[in-house]
Amino acid sequence: MTRRTALVTGANRGIGLEIARQLAAQGHRVLLGARDPAKGEAAAARIAGDVVPVALDVARDESVHAAARAHPAIDILVNNAAVYLDRGVDPLALDPAVLRLTLEVNTLGAFRCAAAWGPGMRERGWGRIVNVSSGMGQLADMRGGSLAYRLSKTGLSTLTRVLAHELGPTVKVNAMSPGWVRTDMGGPGAERSVAEGADTAVWLATLPDDGPSGGFFKDRAAIAW
Ligand code: NAP
Repeated sequence: MTRRTALVTGANRGIGLEIARQLAAQGHRVLLGARDPAKGEAAAARIAGDVVPVALDVARDESVHAAARAHPAIDILVNNAAVYLDRGVDPLALDPAVLRLTLEVNTLGAFRCAAAWGPGMRERGWGRIVNVSSGMGQLADMRGGSLAYRLSKTGLSTLTRVLAHELGPTVKVNAMSPGWVRTDMGGPGAERSVAEGADTAVWLATLPDDGPSGGFFKDRAAIAW
């Protein structure tokens, strides 16, 4: 196995922390992204392996630029950071500020990171980008409620497809759904452990050269957009 450098955004807790843990356990160097540096340092200290905390607020241009200056060359980018602010909110009464903030983190955050690190991957001829999406962003199964969160994740689908075309073929870009996972976002009653939720993201982050690109996956299998 070639040892890679991986950046996981929003990795101070939840699924991101578990993705960071699994990648570090495989021997990769992990840059653990956290918008609060103290939380990032505390989380990095909890993981065995080569793990470096990185201050990274994906909603802020300057923060992404600073992280890219500090760590210009990464091989694997996992766009995991997200907020779910409109749980239970009537879509027709949604505050546009909530929609704007959700898109700023969940969709533009992934775009900012891909724009910062994707071109370097293409130049070096190897890269993996994983966009952590959700079944709630699946057009094939779109329902009511949670408009901001759903829209942010369908936007991530478009980003995935466009990036796969722009950065390929040696840079593989895929989206995944972790399922309903026991985290602060998923709640204690969710079906899956963080290990189960992180598995497909880690698989996509370490795909072999003949692996897929431009797809949407759950449980290591392709699903409809
Ligand atoms: P979580 O426990 O709420 O953790 C979210 C992480 O994102 C936290 O580390 C948080 O940092 C970070 N974050 C939020 N805004 C950020 C920003 N502006 N910049 C950088 N980091 C930021 O959520 P989770 O359940 O682990 O979810 C991880 C991913 O899985 C998300 O993309 C989510 O949409 C997706 N997902 C989760 C479920 C589920 O059931 N849990 C289901 C489907 C999809 P702070 O600690 O600083 O807030």
